[in-house]
Amino acid sequence: MIAEIVSVGTELLMGQIVNTDAQHIAKSLAPLGYICYYQVTVGDNAQRLTDAVRTALSRSDLVIFTGGLGPTDDDLTKETVAEALGLSCVPIPEQVEILKKQFRNAGWSMTPNNLKQASFPESAIILKNDHGTAPGCIMEADGKAAILLPGPPNELFPMFDHYVLPYLEKRGNCHLHSRLLKITGVGESRLAYEIRDLIASQTNPTIAPYAKTGEVELRLTAKCATDEEGEKLIAPVMQAILDHFGASVYSVDGETLESVCVKALETCSKTLSVFESGSGGLVCAALTSVPGHERFLKEGRVVCGHDAQISSADPYSQEYALALARAAKEASGTDLGLSVGPVRTMENPGSRMTGTAYIAIADGDSEKAVVLNMMGSPDRLRRICTLKAMDLLRRKCLNQPLDIDII
Ligand code: ATP
Ligand code: MG
Repeated sequence: MIAEIVSVGTELLMGQIVNTDAQHIAKSLAPLGYICYYQVTVGDNAQRLTDAVRTALSRSDLVIFTGGLGPTDDDLTKETVAEALGLSCVPIPEQVEILKKQFRNAGWSMTPNNLKQASFPESAIILKNDHGTAPGCIMEADGKAAILLPGPPNELFPMFDHYVLPYLEKRGNCHLHSRLLKITGVGESRLAYEIRDLIASQTNPTIAPYAKTGEVELRLTAKCATDEEGEKLIAPVMQAILDHFGASVYSVDGETLESVCVKALETCSKTLSVFESGSGGLVCAALTSVPGHERFLKEGRVVCGHDAQISSADPYSQEYALALARAAKEASGTDLGLSVGPVRTMENPGSRMTGTAYIAIADGDSEKAVVLNMMGSPDRLRRICTLKAMDLLRRKCLNQPLDIDII
């Protein structure tokens, strides 16, 4: 089935905004079996928009429009597409009610042009906008489908993911089942390099790596008739990845690292205290977001600068991070103490900022410090410290190797 994306907006043509809507839509089409032959951008001009709509509907089976669904006069997409399909828009009583309620709740007064947002062809499938006022819609005619979505990405992304994807799956007679693997301790380029053969040889499931700060996500997506069949297709590929990356894979179902950590503390039934400097409290913030953390996490403290009472060692040293971990453990008598030492940053003219920090973990019998050599903005350095400290904790609890790769 041939698909086309038509993005409506003069701002796009002028280079004032980047077409993130089209990117979000486009990457979902191929796995669903839609071939995207064209992406078109057109300004808010009635004649040129009409031309673009007619051309798209003449050469593609599925046309997805973004933008121009708002209440103002230059928002023309819906009326233009309806006309090209031989349909006409009329106020839909249920939508008028919803709109009136939204305005009442927000304390705004409605103007007649707002009614435009509640008008659709009677046969249209209306897509709820959970983050704005303009609903999207699907119009079907002559075996073609036109899907109209609002321009703002914070409205379009969730509408597309929640309402359009299931429609596309059904229409394309295709079901997808996916698993999200999360890996820390391996950079994206190394990961992609090491499993390049696997990635290249896979068509079902497909393997898509996404780099995030300090970690990589791998989405395995199988085209299948049922979820069970999808699991069967994914299993051997997932096993090959687990065999290759071992303990670096911290989740095979999209679970967050903080949630994995709290479960790991439960598994080894140990209590924890955290003293953190370079992560500025983010380790505790993450762990405390997990329900049930209070059974294991007993205390967290942000230690700024050099606390000479804890240790007289150089604050940017392994000794200092270890002393912090020991002090955390002793402060509230927990089984484990986790620490993040301060980050020593260095500005590098002409290139990115670098930073070094030590993280450490101590239990009664053993202790371990790891150095982190990082690169990026201060916020990124803080987030890497946070992630790596939690990874160290996870590994400790699950008896896995503590040598975390440096990124
Ligand atoms: P509104 O009700 O806000 O008018 P709309 O559906 O009419 O929404 P537009 O007026 O075309 O959409 O765009 C609204 C805003 O959404 C733009 O100013 C821009 O910030 C953003 N936007 C529009 N199209 C895109 C796109 N393709 N990619 C990313 N952002 C976009
Ligand atoms: Mg608009």
